[in-house]
Amino acid sequence: MQKHLVVGILNGDDIGHEIVPAAVEVTRAAAARTGLEIDWRPMPIGRKALDELGTTLPAGTLETLSTMDGFILGPIGHQAYPKQPGAINPHPIMRKHFNLFANVRPTRSFPGLGAVHEGIDLVIVRENNEGFQPDRNVVAGSGEFRPTEEVTISVRVITRTGSSRVARAAFEIAQQRRKRLTLVHKNTVFKLGCGMFVEECRKVAEEFPDVTVDEVIVDTMAMRLIRDPQSFDTVVTTNMFGDILTDEAAGLVGGLGMAPGLCIGDGALAMAQATHGSAPDIAGQGIANPFAMIESARMMIEWLGHNRGIAPAVEAARLMKGGIEKALADPATRTRDIRGTGGTNDMTRGIVAAIEAA
Ligand code: ATP
Repeated sequence: MQKHLVVGILNGDDIGHEIVPAAVEVTRAAAARTGLEIDWRPMPIGRKALDELGTTLPAGTLETLSTMDGFILGPIGHQAYPKQPGAINPHPIMRKHFNLFANVRPTRSFPGLGAVHEGIDLVIVRENNEGFQPDRNVVAGSGEFRPTEEVTISVRVITRTGSSRVARAAFEIAQQRRKRLTLVHKNTVFKLGCGMFVEECRKVAEEFPDVTVDEVIVDTMAMRLIRDPQSFDTVVTTNMFGDILTDEAAGLVGGLGMAPGLCIGDGALAMAQATHGSAPDIAGQGIANPFAMIESARMMIEWLGHNRGIAPAVEAARLMKGGIEKALADPATRTRDIRGTGGTNDMTRGIVAAIEAA
């Protein structure tokens, strides 16, 4: 019998082998409660795939993923890959291949975890496939090049289509939240690049008259995020600015372990991917904070539930939210980076127990 959802499990590298199974375990527990049927499909990726199959992105991976509703992608430690053919960074390829143009990265403070401020609840929607990132803003070659030993040129790509579609994704999210959207750019200096991004965002704003829009220059935004993060709800910005601001926002609420993310595009498929890297310094010790990965999976299930009209998925996401909040409230079921005394398994089991008891 066909299940509600088909979801890929791609562990990634280093702590990915700990936090991705945690995300699956929590999602399974919630799904069991609501009758959500998920066909889980583990797939090799990253260093393990390189060692076993000779490439970090095995042949057929993209084709198989394209038949699914979504997938969980663990962090990729591509910096440590040996310099050899087949050892490529797979995630920009996936973002591009599946046209996952919006990277949705929420930041929320929870009491007692060492957040700089209480009451933070914002989401940064970052353009995902163009901008300054040289490994993804061209289809061949690199967006960075060195014509002479003296000169390096880094190219930033901004398109009307790319700007417009990420703006629409952000407005749709803002509409579901507190109906406030902050547009972050630097068109005072990047008159053409940021100028085009702003123009397109303003056009899309006309379709959402119920959303209040304000505009903030990126350097001011970096400062205001520290001083009054509670004043922001939904934020939309270009790729690199979004990448930096989301790490800054994570720092406000307990660090990178608290930074989840969901990559979405035209609705065909969603990719749950935490903001943080593969943290090789703590891998294998059972101390990685699984929150970001679990919350990313939760966001995916919720998004798929709404997008595909699957009520048990929406309900499973709601149960996961409650379970996460409960576990985070107890130092024994949260990790040390967020003022806890537990490890990855304690937190995972704490969330599962809370879901089962709900
Ligand atoms: P990338 O460039 O791939 O995003 P990075 O250079 O930002 O990676 P990370 O791997 O994210 O580096 O690690 C940065 C720091 O944050 C490390 O000290 C790491 O241990 C810590 N860290 C990252 N993720 C977690 C987590 N889930 N739990 C606890 N600590 C984490």
